[in-house]
Amino acid sequence: AKSMGRNTLCFFDPAMQSAMTANARTGSDLRSGLRRGEFLLYYQPQVDRAGVITGVEALLRWNHPERGLIPPSEFIPVAEDTGLILPLGQWALETACAQLAAWARRPETANLSIAVNVSVRQFRHPDFVDLVMACIRNSGIRPQRLKLELTESLLADRMEITIQKMGMLKALGVTLSLDDFGVGYSSLSVLKRLPLDQLKIDKAFVADVLTDPNDAAISRAIIALAQSLSLQVVAEGVETVEQRDFLTYQGCDQFQGYLFSKPLPIEQLDALLANPMAG
Ligand code: C2E
Ligand code: CA
Ligand code: CA
Ligand code: CA
Repeated sequence: AKSMGRNTLCFFDPAMQSAMTANARTGSDLRSGLRRGEFLLYYQPQVDRAGVITGVEALLRWNHPERGLIPPSEFIPVAEDTGLILPLGQWALETACAQLAAWARRPETANLSIAVNVSVRQFRHPDFVDLVMACIRNSGIRPQRLKLELTESLLADRMEITIQKMGMLKALGVTLSLDDFGVGYSSLSVLKRLPLDQLKIDKAFVADVLTDPNDAAISRAIIALAQSLSLQVVAEGVETVEQRDFLTYQGCDQFQGYLFSKPLPIEQLDALLANPMAG
């Protein structure tokens, strides 16, 4: 590289160096973490308009031996870059299906659903539909209890194959939800062609729904759009009674957020389900 002058040479920027080392460590750590079973799913309840828990969203956590509990924002990007999102995502799907099978044995929990996040890279993999089919068959669950949360970024390109694949998943009987709706771009004409069951309003809109007229308008528009397409609408990141009331008034079907519960490890979730009034 040409010299950019004394003041701009920074090959040994220590901050950059340590960021790169940390990333590399996370990358190889991830693989051994998977091998050693250090990943777990937390579950965040979703409630209906009456406040009854109808299901949960499964959210990955990494219980690292030295660094403790690591949130997905710190390892999902690395997992995507390295391709490890494929085995990690498969593990999440299998674990969620095993949990659904356990719940199916008790009448009080038999109707709960689990939503699993699917990254674009996972969805695009040629074996994804087969994987979902195998998970359903091996666990013996009713497929509609499994909800796949797909992100809007899936709609940026390769539309025809995306629609076809979503159709194949739908044919398996699973529920399809479009996550983080409103953040990216997706045209209304495209939305109409997708075999979706549900839209999720991103928490970025929910956060300011009472203070920012734009966010209120967006939330209202998403709910109206969902209703006109006969889709269910779920709001994530609901933290206050006022937010819930506003969204309820607009016609939102389901809610998820700290107002109801944080994401919980399975033992705590099962305790909450066994005695929902105690919380
Ligand atoms: P997401 O799918 O949008 O999930 C919602 C995030 O909002 C979760 O963060 C959840 O803990 C958080 N949240 C829930 N309620 C509230 C609230 O009331 N207020 C606020 N401020 N936040 C709330 P989390 O668990 O850190 O997950 C972050 C992201 O990581 C997820 O965003 C999802 O994109 C990704 N992720 C998590 N698990 C998986 C997975 O198994 N596979 C893939 N591909 N991505 C995952
Ligand atoms: Ca999600
Ligand atoms: Ca979100
Ligand atoms: Ca805003």
